[in-house]
Amino acid sequence: MTEEPAAPDRLELRHVRMAFHTDGLPFQALDDISFSVAPREFVAIVGPSGSGKSTLFNLIVGLLQPDSGEIRLDGEVAEARLGRFGYMPQRDLLLPWRDILGNVVVPLELRGTPPRESRQRALALFPLFGLEGFERAWPAALSGGMRQRAALLRTILGDSRTLLLDEPFGALDALTRREMQDWLLGLWTRLRPTVLFITHDVDEAVYLADRVLVLGPRPARVVSELKVRLPRPRHQSMVALPVFGEHVADLLQALGVASSPIPDPPGAGPASTVDSPA
Ligand code: ADP
Ligand code: MG
Repeated sequence: MTEEPAAPDRLELRHVRMAFHTDGLPFQALDDISFSVAPREFVAIVGPSGSGKSTLFNLIVGLLQPDSGEIRLDGEVAEARLGRFGYMPQRDLLLPWRDILGNVVVPLELRGTPPRESRQRALALFPLFGLEGFERAWPAALSGGMRQRAALLRTILGDSRTLLLDEPFGALDALTRREMQDWLLGLWTRLRPTVLFITHDVDEAVYLADRVLVLGPRPARVVSELKVRLPRPRHQSMVALPVFGEHVADLLQALGVASSPIPDPPGAGPASTVDSPA
């Protein structure tokens, strides 16, 4: 992207509550959620499975509306929010019958951008996304990491100012995941969007984010917040720093999963615990 994109909006949630209604019965999904995200900040969100993280994203982007509370963009209550975010949902599939270029231009097509212009804007970003030479490839021919980068390119072509990424690397193997984390940080440094990033991996949250919000079990509320005290640019070697370990321990404790060590099963050999040397 040659031109600097417009500055992202400040996002603020105030006392947001929302229930689903199934068979007429209310099912409280979000309970009194309040937080704000500064323009260009990288905020990670962790929480137990089923706590309401994906629901929170659906609500922020405007696919759902709160029952009470406010969602503000740049200080204004924003009821019409559709189209103001780049949103990559948790199960973000590429269309198998379209090649990669055909897939990534979808948001531009939906907006009525002329096909030629859509393709040009997309093609200009292929090198940055490590997809040069794969414009005409079918999704099935790409590795998991490449498919996620293609999905992210499509997301950014929708809107590059505020990105909501729901467990984008959750299905990748550990090594690819690390490569993708570094690649994403490079992209963030270059394009400077605001990023909200859901992950179930506390190490990933600490490694990537400026700040981590911890959601409690359903109904979701922010039970803890951690400001990450790691310098930027980040390097994978930082996972060995004491402060990294402290942050991870604090997050695990906030999630309620760090209270006691895992007991050895009876008759087991030397246990492989978190304390054992790698
Ligand atoms: P998470 O992303 O944290 O795993 P979700 O936001 O997907 O959690 O779901 C939170 C809770 O809301 C879950 O119990 C889920 O079953 C429920 N839920 C999600 N979407 C709907 C829906 N459309 N209707 C009813 N319940 C839903
Ligand atoms: Mg989810």
